[in-house]
Amino acid sequence: MKEIYLDNSATTPLSEAAKQKMTEAMERYGNPSSLHSAGQAAEKLVAEAREQILLSLGLRPRQKDGVLVFTSCGTEATSLALFGSAYAKERRQATRILTTDSEHPSVARALDRLAADGFEVIRIPTKNGVLDLGALDAALEQKIFLASFMLVNNETGAIYGVGEAFRRIKQRYPEAITHCDAVQGFLKIPFTPATLSADLITVSGHKLHAPKGVGALYISSAMLKAKKIVPFLVGGGQEDGMRSGTENVIGIAAFGASVKELREQKTARAEHMRALRQYAEDKLASLDLRINRPARDYLPHIINVTLPHIKSETMLHALSADGIFVSSGSACSSHSHHPSDSLLAFGLTPHEADCSLRISFSDYNTEADIDALCASLSKGIDTLVRIK
Ligand code: PLP
Repeated sequence: MKEIYLDNSATTPLSEAAKQKMTEAMERYGNPSSLHSAGQAAEKLVAEAREQILLSLGLRPRQKDGVLVFTSCGTEATSLALFGSAYAKERRQATRILTTDSEHPSVARALDRLAADGFEVIRIPTKNGVLDLGALDAALEQKIFLASFMLVNNETGAIYGVGEAFRRIKQRYPEAITHCDAVQGFLKIPFTPATLSADLITVSGHKLHAPKGVGALYISSAMLKAKKIVPFLVGGGQEDGMRSGTENVIGIAAFGASVKELREQKTARAEHMRALRQYAEDKLASLDLRINRPARDYLPHIINVTLPHIKSETMLHALSADGIFVSSGSACSSHSHHPSDSLLAFGLTPHEADCSLRISFSDYNTEADIDALCASLSKGIDTLVRIK
């Protein structure tokens, strides 16, 4: 049976460019910190990947606008950003942190921990996928020291207008630290640290056809100079002292190769995604389900739908039996039985959230994949058990 993979917001298949680079990197066994030529060969791969990712963030690597710190995943990059700036905060008095009510658990749970440590965490509503700027302005009546907003929501595809939010924050409190979780938006929508007014940006390899086990945090040079962030992995001082530990050379090299390829094909990919989204929306419109379309900007790659009283897990397994893979919420939260916070924040009831599926595309998907999905969904809607 042909497998149809429509869960690309959870992870993506490896690109040929990533596979080739991994094969090459497997031969470069040196430790990138070693001074001999085997070490230098490995270091060269890491440096090339760093350059590609900085370029894709709209930076000129030699200008030293900031550094890119490789980590083991997006979650680790975000933990470094949030705990790293909170623990460096002795010099500041404010303890208030701003975020949204629909962050990925890597941000939401890190901030829960900071809240338990005495920080005040204020969550700005994102009803219908739109960041409430009025609530943001009201929250800025009192000083904040840190803000963490996601670029694109991983369950609904909503684009939150982080640039506008961070500009308002910086206007009021220039010293405030701004972190953006750009895991779902990197290389899908254009941005740079300057257009976002972001000091810290999280990205992750496996959402971009690179292997799992590699992520990165961009840190502005102003943050570093002012020592506004401290590492929590300490040791040999790799990655500008911000993340000790020998680098995952194979994963990093593949991340760089994938990112380079995606950047070069950006325009064609964006057109393919827009066309595929339109095709999918037209087809889904004939089925008995509701598309949870964000009220303003959204990424074409992610479609969230609510089924007519059919549990998402029941449908997910029925689709899986037909070789079609989607998700019943973010891959991380699908381990818990709690309805998705993102969908509740969007405005769905717990019952609706329980009956919602996420379909997410990559460049590799075709109209034939959508046809197969809709046929299988239609069969499921006619035959599967409905809940009250
Ligand atoms: N942030 C967002 C918005 C995500 O969708 C994910 C993964 O699903 C992450 C962070 C975590 O990235 P990683 O799986 O690399 O830790």
